[in-house]
Amino acid sequence: MKNIAVIGAGISGLYLANLLEKEIDFEYKIYEKRSKFNLEEGYGIQLSVNSIKLLNKIGFKNLSVHDLSYPKRVNFVDAKNNNKICDIDINKFNDESNYYTTLKRSTLIKFLLDDIPDSKINHNIELKKVEYGEKLNAHFSNNTIENFDYIIVSDGVFSNSKSIIAEKHIAPKFFKSVALRGNIKNYDNPDVSIFMGSNFHFVIYPVNQNKDYNFISIIRKNLSKEQLADEKLFENNDFLQSLLGTINQNSFLDIKSNLENIKAFPIFVSEKLEIINKKNIFFVGDALFSFPPSFAQGASQSIETSNDLFQNIKNNNDIFYKERINKINSVNWRSKLNHFAFHLKNPLSIFIRNICLKYLTKNEKFLENYLGKIYRD
Ligand SMILES: Cc1cc2nc3c(=O)[nH]c(=O)nc-3n(C[C@H](O)[C@H](O)[C@H](O)COP(=O)(O)OP(=O)(O)OC[C@H]3O[C@@H](n4cnc5c(N)ncnc54)[C@H](O)[C@@H]3O)c2cc1C
Repeated sequence: MKNIAVIGAGISGLYLANLLEKEIDFEYKIYEKRSKFNLEEGYGIQLSVNSIKLLNKIGFKNLSVHDLSYPKRVNFVDAKNNNKICDIDINKFNDESNYYTTLKRSTLIKFLLDDIPDSKINHNIELKKVEYGEKLNAHFSNNTIENFDYIIVSDGVFSNSKSIIAEKHIAPKFFKSVALRGNIKNYDNPDVSIFMGSNFHFVIYPVNQNKDYNFISIIRKNLSKEQLADEKLFENNDFLQSLLGTINQNSFLDIKSNLENIKAFPIFVSEKLEIINKKNIFFVGDALFSFPPSFAQGASQSIETSNDLFQNIKNNNDIFYKERINKINSVNWRSKLNHFAFHLKNPLSIFIRNICLKYLTKNEKFLENYLGKIYRD
């Protein structure tokens, strides 16, 4: 029997826990910093077929279709005049039982929690120290010490456990962008639509069959260290209104009047992939590598990574990071390229981008290379 500590109960940690739950050779406990899960929030998440395939293996296909949406297309739209430039048929990457899916994050978390006994989740706890002996001695913030065969770190982009284990300070870097999200009213389109503006883009997609829509915008914005350290800034009404104003001034849709449950936060990404070689300690999800969000792959990659790690531990292999490096690089440059292309400002660059987009979105070879490689492999 192998004893495993999972640090952090986000998408990556909970997916891994679902795999461990089904194996009699593993015993595991989850340690989560927050006091409880937020199972009410209505914000959305897009999941491509690579992660849907893995989620279906643990019963995702049994979820009620009312709580899910299956967009057929990704539309590229000029935010300023609402003119559609082109679209991608994302159906082509689906197979008979796995479809590109959009849903509420809370629906996903509820599903991931379904098969995990409450007794296996310890809330209000953080990892404080690890001692290395025959086993891994983990010291926790509630002054308990426990022995494990493996420690899996899945505590997200700001992973404090990473610094503890690496024995040096590791922090993500500010991506000079801010995210603004909410639920949008008076909108009706079953596709994923990407509205591109100058120095911002926003994406709207359905999160269920009830015509509830998620709005997420990425706005280029440089903030000082002091502003980033000020947690209240992102709740400040003037700040939120100025972000909304940036979008509204340059957008055909009246976002300001139709957005509810608005939340803003700064975007941080991994500066580089740091492989920390400590025997039987592994990193997954955003704690391993956090991507810019413009390719909507972070959660799907988190699920893939947890699945890879599980197979490695189960089969006693030592190739986990070797296999992930290429995929991380592939997703990272695509995410950065999307971010750049979605935010162009100069009219000539926009003109050229739109011609390229029209051509590339109908080019099978390009689509297979740019998306198929990530969604199918
Ligand atoms: C604006 C935006 C939009 C996005 N949209 C999409 C999308 O549409 N599709 C997609 O695939 N991805 C998307 N992503 C990325 C995706 O949200 C993340 O990649 C994913 O949530 C990472 O999961 P995780 O489990 O690694 O981390 P998290 O989900 O962040 O979970 C980490 C968990 O660890 C806990 N924790 C933190 N510190 C500690 C500690 N010290 N000890 C114990 N527990 C701790 C946290 O409370 C949390 O529960 C988006 C990201 C952003 C910023």
